[in-house]
Amino acid sequence: MSSNLRINRICEQCGKEFEARKTTSKTCSNDCAKKAYKARKRAAKIEVSNEQVNRIKAKPLEDLRAQEYLTVDETARLVRISRRTLYRMNERGELVFMKLSRRTVIRRSDIDRLFDQAKPAGAPEPVIISLSECYTMKEIIQKYGISDKALYELIRRNDIPKQYSGIYAYVPKIRIDELLTSAASQS
Ligand SMILES: [Zn+2]
Repeated sequence: MSSNLRINRICEQCGKEFEARKTTSKTCSNDCAKKAYKARKRAAKIEVSNEQVNRIKAKPLEDLRAQEYLTVDETARLVRISRRTLYRMNERGELVFMKLSRRTVIRRSDIDRLFDQAKPAGAPEPVIISLSECYTMKEIIQKYGISDKALYELIRRNDIPKQYSGIYAYVPKIRIDELLTSAASQS
């Protein structure tokens, strides 16, 4: 490609407009390129550490799963059912409570059996947001002057739910406004 090629771009690091010499340039300067690289590294590290935290948080539940007998409280936590519901299940004869010395306990095998009998819940219902609370892609592009590609990337990276009506995809206004307004006020 010609070295005289000049393309106006927005620096992904500082947000300033710059003349790119290559179509692949994403940052305005070496300094910004270094910062962008570090930011990416940092984001990757945070992801790893979040995973570790989640693993540690899940630990006590794993311990509960290994126990032969559980208290009503432990059962409630393990299966995410309220104590009240557990007592009602006991009254209906669906779940046996046992007395172990003075404590009321539930056999883990009985809890497991509950799940064997339960019907699969199926796919969760999608959350439907009224279309009047949504933007089309075109509306976002017009309002914020963002590129097609940047918009799709933004939606993907932030897990913004899309819903379709006819040929149009709709995304919740509140999520888009939140993301793009804060990005604009940072530069
Ligand atoms: Zn820059």
